[in-house]
Amino acid sequence: MKYKYCPICGRKLNTINSWDEGEIPYCPIDNMLYFDTPTPCIIVAVIKDNEILLLKQSYIFKNSKVLVSGYVTNGETVEETVFREVKEETGIVIEDVKYLGSEYLESKEIIMLTFMAKYKEGKISKSPEVEHAEWMSLDNALYEMKEDEIGKRIVRKTLKEIGYN
Ligand SMILES: [Zn+2]
Repeated sequence: MKYKYCPICGRKLNTINSWDEGEIPYCPIDNMLYFDTPTPCIIVAVIKDNEILLLKQSYIFKNSKVLVSGYVTNGETVEETVFREVKEETGIVIEDVKYLGSEYLESKEIIMLTFMAKYKEGKISKSPEVEHAEWMSLDNALYEMKEDEIGKRIVRKTLKEIGYN
């Protein structure tokens, strides 16, 4: 996001030269630089034997199931976000988290950090923000996720990682 006004004090921002980054919007009152950075978000494919954890969240895709995802919050590491989002949205505890690369979503200025993880323990108890959460056969996962292109790419990578045909 390109900032024009300081989100803290509301003043119109100056700019300041920040080495290789060039002219960066700057608030001298709050001594803050406002870089044009994307919002970091995680998405994770959770695997339990031959099943994968899928959610229904109509505000994201009306006719598709999706993987667990969420925004990185200030004060936590990206790895902590992955554990927290899976626990919050589904009640499931994961282990063996593995990074699978990133995807950039231009329309929302989101940098999506993609992961796979293994089920460790817990029963599904979904959060109110999730309509439905379930373990779905790996054979059906890609079909169930038809509108979710990024999600499907992550599932394909995950299937390759675990050697599933
Ligand atoms: Zn300010």
